[in-house]
Amino acid sequence: MRIASWHWGGRDHVGTISACGRELTPLAVPDASRGALPLIQALVRGEPLPSPSGARLPVDVVTLRAPLPKPLRSLFCAGRNYRAHAAELATTVFRDSPPKQDEWPIVFGKLPECVVGPYDDVRLPGSAVSTQIDYESELAVVIGRGGRDIPRSRAMDHVFGYTIVNDVTARDVQMRHGQWDLGKSFDTFCPMGPWIATADEFDGTDTRVRCWVNGELRQDARTTDLIFDIPTLIETCSRGITLHPGDVIATGTPAGVGMGLNPPQWLKTGDKVRIEIDGIGAIENAFG
Ligand code: MG
Repeated sequence: MRIASWHWGGRDHVGTISACGRELTPLAVPDASRGALPLIQALVRGEPLPSPSGARLPVDVVTLRAPLPKPLRSLFCAGRNYRAHAAELATTVFRDSPPKQDEWPIVFGKLPECVVGPYDDVRLPGSAVSTQIDYESELAVVIGRGGRDIPRSRAMDHVFGYTIVNDVTARDVQMRHGQWDLGKSFDTFCPMGPWIATADEFDGTDTRVRCWVNGELRQDARTTDLIFDIPTLIETCSRGITLHPGDVIATGTPAGVGMGLNPPQWLKTGDKVRIEIDGIGAIENAFG
């Protein structure tokens, strides 16, 4: 099943999208402004899938929203979590002070208010705020059943599904504050979507993540190249912290970000970033 959130006819809806990705079926979900969140919570409680609340309609006529347009709280995000990405950073930004290969994942937070839809515009801040805006294509895990101190061995039982995020980053701001949250959380800096593919139909542990900037392929990797795999990330984020249904864990980005190029290439007005993950779909956002 794939769960989408959209705006149509003057209000928000939540429902399913057909296998071909072209037809939406709205469901009777309370508080559709929160996207799939109330539906995930209900399904985790063991309630059945709500009945359709209206006629099917083509996806072309609606405005797709992020499947979780107002997440419960900050997104958990893994940093430097693909082997090839860690290698490109070691020869560029961390050339003079190479980080040791960590025993634990880097995890930071991204404010929930920065989430925007899969085709929404991303707003570049003024040059007084940042001149180094970068893209990061990522597979994001959506938590189903919550829990604390979830062991690796049972972590996949807590996965509701998967979606795509662009972990848009102001590199200069990321690097100068001793933490990453500020440079990762500018308004509009988390395009998400186009929908959630549920874990019973989609295996996020082995899929292909690609990213294009203005049609040029920049990132191309499989999630099997993750340094800390999805069960480990769930185990890590739930240590002493209760995860809730609808929590999001972004798994990190592959090699090929703008910062890793020589010379670095930052996003500018008019650029279009497209991210595609096999088995889910694609998001595409204009920057300006
Ligand atoms: Mg990232």
